[in-house]
Amino acid sequence: MIKSVRFCMKLLCLIVATIQPALLSARPENLSKAKAEIISYYEGGQYEKDLDKAISKAIKHFNKIPATSKTLVIFDVDDTALQNYQLYKKISFGHVPEIFYTWIVESDTPAIPQTKSLYDYLVGRGFRIIFLSGRRHDEYDLTVENLKKQGFTTFDRVIVRSEKDARKTAHDFKVEQRKLLTQEGYNIVAMVGDQWSDVCGGYADYYVKLPNLMYTLE
Ligand SMILES: [Mg+2]
Repeated sequence: MIKSVRFCMKLLCLIVATIQPALLSARPENLSKAKAEIISYYEGGQYEKDLDKAISKAIKHFNKIPATSKTLVIFDVDDTALQNYQLYKKISFGHVPEIFYTWIVESDTPAIPQTKSLYDYLVGRGFRIIFLSGRRHDEYDLTVENLKKQGFTTFDRVIVRSEKDARKTAHDFKVEQRKLLTQEGYNIVAMVGDQWSDVCGGYADYYVKLPNLMYTLE
């Protein structure tokens, strides 16, 4: 009897030992710990390294691409051209639209230097540039002002959501805009963004995906 109980316990321990790590790895991270790890990622050097790597790889790629009058690279704005990390850290990584709007109104969001260096390189080579943002139409002027203040002064246009685009997903809105730009005659050679919705969905052969551990937009 004792032998069979021990066998069952042993078997049970074996099962728990085998399954528990899998269960633990599937369990979400403790929120405080996750936030601390995100701060460490952004402030401990790894974010900079990942940006450097993505941008230097992109420049090597663009070195092989000839620029024409219609060769277009599309840049996203938030956390691609402009860096919102300090805002998100300040509000403990939530998203409050009213606070974000106040942040935009200040029009003082810093550029991501690595993106700026890629942008400068592309402008210097003669690529056309368009900024395509999921921001609202009433944020257009503030967005242009902030981009210019950070040195993004050469572009064909800045596109934000019109009222009819308000309820579209980021992915659908951006794909639709890429389609319109292609119909207009642009040859989109790349998208640069921090979200997969910035870069997936077609209309270009190449993309530059920048890191963003703060939020996901689909
Ligand atoms: Mg973005």
